[in-house]
Formats: sequence, structure tokens, C-alpha cells
Amino acid sequence: MQEKGSISIHTENIFPIIKKFLYSDNEIFLRELVSNAVDAVQKIKRLSSLGQYNGAIGEPLVEVSFDEAAKTITISDNGIGMTAEEIKKYINQIAFSGAEEFVEKFKDAKDANELIGKFGLGFYSAFMVSDKVEIQTLSYQEGAQPARWICDGSTEFEITEGDRTTRGTSIILHVNADSQEFLDKYKLQGILDKYCKFLPVPIKFGTKKEYDYDSVAEDAEDKKPKEKEVDNIINDTTPIWTKTPSELKDEDYLRFYRELYPMSEEPLFWIHLNVDHPFTLTGVLYFPKVRNDMEFQRNKIKLFSRQVFITDEVKEIVPDFLMLLHGVIDSPDIPLNVSRSFLQADGNVKKINSHISKKVADKLAELFRTDRKAYESKWADIGLFVKYGMISEDKFYDRAKDFALLSNTKEEYYTLAEYKDKIEPLQKDKDGKLVYLYTNDPARQDAFIQSADRKGYDVLLMNSPIDNHFIHTLERKLDQTTMKRVDADVVDKLIAKDEKIESVLTESETTSVREIFEKAISKPNMTVKVEALGSEELPVTVTMDEFMRRMKDMAAMGGGM
Ligand code: ADP
Ligand code: MG
Repeated sequence: MQEKGSISIHTENIFPIIKKFLYSDNEIFLRELVSNAVDAVQKIKRLSSLGQYNGAIGEPLVEVSFDEAAKTITISDNGIGMTAEEIKKYINQIAFSGAEEFVEKFKDAKDANELIGKFGLGFYSAFMVSDKVEIQTLSYQEGAQPARWICDGSTEFEITEGDRTTRGTSIILHVNADSQEFLDKYKLQGILDKYCKFLPVPIKFGTKKEYDYDSVAEDAEDKKPKEKEVDNIINDTTPIWTKTPSELKDEDYLRFYRELYPMSEEPLFWIHLNVDHPFTLTGVLYFPKVRNDMEFQRNKIKLFSRQVFITDEVKEIVPDFLMLLHGVIDSPDIPLNVSRSFLQADGNVKKINSHISKKVADKLAELFRTDRKAYESKWADIGLFVKYGMISEDKFYDRAKDFALLSNTKEEYYTLAEYKDKIEPLQKDKDGKLVYLYTNDPARQDAFIQSADRKGYDVLLMNSPIDNHFIHTLERKLDQTTMKRVDADVVDKLIAKDEKIESVLTESETTSVREIFEKAISKPNMTVKVEALGSEELPVTVTMDEFMRRMKDMAAMGGGM
């Protein structure tokens, strides 16, 4: 058996173009070839379980190896293999709709994914790092002959009889001069860890040393076990998102979290996604402790397609406000070689996005309902997501308005409805609008807060990085409501509580205290207002922002006020 032929695309030497334009992403060749190998193994398992293949399937295995001297990288599997006919069908007929279109489009392609996705070039990504690619394969089909295909990156290929004696396929890459960096254990291990860590078939990459505890005899003096060489399997074939939530304990979720983010604190809680319809989506999303450090935390969600890592740029799939979450999502509806433009255009992606948003809202509502105390104690962290969501999405605002909390300076928590009820009797301005008082700097505004408190008003704590925007959202969303930063004028303008505050100073004393302060400050355009509140620890407040702290310090030092 020997055949020479031409790959059916209508232009010469398309591979130099691929190589040249895709250089920056060239490591994905390994992802593509390993996932083809995994597919091939899963196909034989499926055929066997359907009774269409009666031979032994053996231990499913994909093996990646390299030979520095021969300058080759080999990806082999014990999957279904290919006949020479199938090679011609699946490998030679590249899914180009036309060479012109390709040449037209590659000009604008920004990354390899876009090209590969558009043109079905998974296998051909091998040419990004190879001068020559060889396939050795033996099909599972009865009486199949081993076949060998070799191609040097031109459109010419050669098919001859192959060497393989066992079912499966080996892809041998003859690594080109520019890509010698890949002939390195750590380089390859790093790429495998990135893309293949959770693939569903064991992937072997060399061997490693392990203690052999069986080697220690009961009565041995030296209890130290011998070392033995074992296969270095680089992946976990059943990561938690592939399991059903009922099989899993909290500890499993936490262990997985630590594996993904070894340097992070424990997450607050998590959501296990499991959707079959109208799209397939699995995943686990964790709520981290954000600690007000929002930028640092972004881009921690990993996107997978059938357990193959694709990217951690999930901007289109996850609503922007949930980009702070950690974890994984996996959808076979998203192609391996996904590009930004695909994500933006794809209808499923939009559905996934709104599904995740809804799931997150459901989970928060449930936490709020089942254990409000615990929910309140985590509000400092949760609140950031919720507020961010309410600011950025009307739909989420509507879902969240029942479990969003407002906290005041006394560390009490209220839902929006509860808070309205609380302040309605007292905090209105002369037009009858509800006035929500807040502080964004409780230390500096302490005197105003106390003054408001004495009058029976409540002051909200709004000092997270996002609260500025959240305040605007509340004003926009709540009827007949204004948000006012607490200060003296604001407090004064509210309709005061019935009982009058007893001043500890007479009117003339008040005037002279004011004059003393005005003199001491002695700056034009600044007025000092003295309020005698009649309480022991703070008999007088001087309501001038810039000097508050100093005045208080003086009072504390017994400055004779
Ligand atoms: P895709 O994986 O999207 O189908 P590829 O270009 O990666 O596209 O692969 C083309 C086809 O070549 C596969 O669909 C499969 O039929 C065949 N193929 C590639 N690698 C293998 C392999 N290791 N074993 C069996 N068939 C393979
Ligand atoms: Mg493929």
C-alpha cells in the first residue's frame, strides 16, 4: 500500500502562513493533539459499551513523550485508530471552505483560536511547531492494516503501510528549528498542566519516583520504603464539577478550591452548576473573600470544554459583576478553539451568562432565607458582589432587592424594605422625600453621626469601594428617596424629633464659644457653628469638616469646652 496525493485545499503552502501568524499561541498544538487522542479513546469505550466492538479495550491511556536527540514529540493513544481511508477522509480534507476565504480572513485573525475554530484546523496546529508530522495508526476495525501518513507542511502527503501493532494512534511531531523549546520536560509539563489537568482519560508523561510501602517487610529493621518508578499521570480524570452535588462533601469543594488557588483564603461558599437544557453547562463557582480588593481578584474563572481547559478570559460568558468569582465552568457547547468574536456572537453564550446570574441570585436568596445571621456576618464580602450586580444589571437588581442588605453605623442589617419602614416615620425632608443618611468615613464624621443619632436618625455605613455607585443606583431605583451624606446641615434640615435637645450652654455662652473658635481658626469664608448637645462626653460639636478631628481631640484633652 502506498499512495501519494495532495491535501484538498486550493492553495499551496498554507502551513507557513499558519505558522507565521499563529506563533504566539503555538503551545495549543499540544491541547489539540491530546484532546484528539482523548476523543479517540472515548470513542472506543463508547463502541465497546454499545456492543459494536468486542475486543478488549485495555486500560485507556494517552501518552505524551519526547526525544531530545531525535527532536520529536509523540502523542499516542489506545483509541479507535484510523484506517488509511479514514486518514484521507478526516485528515486530508481540511475543512477549508476555500483558500481565498482563508487568505482573506487570516489577515485579521488575532489569535490561533480564531483561525483554528473557523477552519477546523485542530490537527493541523501540529504544523505550528513541526517541520514534518507523522501519523502511525491501527484501526479497531477487524482486519484493519496499520497505516502511516507523513506530511512536511506542504500540501503534499504520503500514505504508506504503518508500523503500529496495537490499536490506536501515534502522532509524531518532528519539531522545527524555531520550536526547540518544546523539547523540554518542564515546558511540556507546564502546558499539560495548563490545558490537560482535568481531561477524562489518564495522560501519562514520563515516570516519577514514589515510595513503595509494600517493599517494607514487617520485620525489617530499616523501615524506610524503597523508591519505585511509577507512571506520571498528569491529570485528574473526574474533577468535582463532573460529579453530582449529592456525592460531594464540603471538604471536597474546599480541597478542589485549594488545588486551583493554593494561595487564597477559604471561599465563603460555592455554587454547583448543573444544567442540561437548553444548553449543557457544569461547573463550580466559588465566592472568595474579596476584602475590597476587587481588581486583584479578577479573571480567576477557568473555562473548559469537555474538561479541556480553554481560557480564563470568560468575559462574555460570566456577567461582569461575577468576574470576581473563582472556579470553573465547562460547556461542550463552547468549541475548544473559541475566539472572542465567537463568544460575543453566540446565542448559547448569552444564555449561559444569564443562567449564571440567575443561579447566583438563587443561591444568595437561599442563604439569606435559611440562615440570616450567617449571611449578615458574611455581608462585607457578599455585599460587594450583590451591590456590583445591582448597579450593573437591572434584572439582577430586581432579584437582589429582597436579599440586599443595608448596614448602619451600629452594625445592624436591614433589607431595603425593612429599612424604609424603619426610617419612614422620622427621616423626611420638607418635601416629604425619604432621606437616607450615610457616612463614607465614620471616623471623620463621628460627630455628625452622633448628632444624628441623638435626634433619632439612622446613618448607613457606605464605605466600600463600590458604595459610591450603589448610592446612585438606590437613588435611581427607590421612589421618593434621596441619599445624603451625614453632615450638620443635612441633619438640621430633617424634620426633627419632637423632644427638644437640651443645650448645656446658654445662648450667650454659645456665642462666646463660637467666637473663640472663629478666632482660633481665623480663616475667611469659614463659619463655625456651635451645637451644645448636653451630653457628658461631647458637650459641644463644632461643625466644620476640616477641623472636626482637631476639635474632638481638644475636647478629649479636656480643652475646657
Ligand atoms: P476535530 O477534532 O475538531 O474533529 P481535528 O482537526 O482535531 O478536528 O481532527 C480531525 C479528525 O481526525 C478527527 O475528527 C478524527 O476523526 C481524526 N483524528 C485526529 N486525531 C485522531 C486520533 N488520535 N485518533 C483517531 N482519530 C483521530
Ligand atoms: Mg480536534
